[in-house]
Amino acid sequence: MSRLLGILGGTFDPVHVGHLRSALDVCEAGGLEQVRLMPCHIPPHRGTPAVDARMRLELLRLAIDGEHQLVVDDRELRRDAVSYTVDTLHSLHLDFPGARLCLLLGSDSFNSLPSWHRWRELAELAHIVVMQRPHVAAADDPVLQNWARGRVTDDWSALRQEAAGLVLYQPVTQLEVSASMIRERLAAGRSGRYLLPDAVWQSVQSHRLYSGEQATTGGND
Ligand code: ATP
Repeated sequence: MSRLLGILGGTFDPVHVGHLRSALDVCEAGGLEQVRLMPCHIPPHRGTPAVDARMRLELLRLAIDGEHQLVVDDRELRRDAVSYTVDTLHSLHLDFPGARLCLLLGSDSFNSLPSWHRWRELAELAHIVVMQRPHVAAADDPVLQNWARGRVTDDWSALRQEAAGLVLYQPVTQLEVSASMIRERLAAGRSGRYLLPDAVWQSVQSHRLYSGEQATTGGND
């Protein structure tokens, strides 16, 4: 039977419980071998992250410590270029020949798919698993709707059989948490406790991250 590997890319600025619980929910629901959390170096769709790549990576490592189904993959940080998912998927196929790749996307990211670089190619390389986020409406873009029609399944075994190209909407724990909401709270002097894993929250405090007063963390983005 084919291995199923999940990939959750993002800025992770910072990683929070919404990322982690959703990744684990998908892992459990689909029997995935692991979900690889992949911080991007230079995100194509947004401005420069608030915290440099080295520190975002460090926070991710703290976040998943002891959880064997979640793995940090720093390949996009090692590539000194804009982080295009299509390139990342090609690189993963070289490292995991024969594995079925599942690209995990929060529903907001899925709705923006047609704006991604070579987006139609993504479905030649991976299945797409959509994780509903609270208060995000279904995509109303007819291009995306037409593209998704005919690809949708609720059967995880189909994702093991087909090499790529299916879309599965996976219910996940609804956590109304976002990195931007956390950054705003921290900048206002409020607490990030229980929104961030404890180890992440401790590191954020000790480095005075997101408070608007942190010393440079020495990374390269
Ligand atoms: P920001 O608020 O800065 O835009 P974010 O919280 O959306 O950040 P990202 O690192 O941009 O976090 O997201 C990485 C991926 O995780 C995206 O596919 C996003 O949709 C998904 N995601 C983020 N938060 C949640 C959540 N609470 N529930 C489900 N998926 C989530």
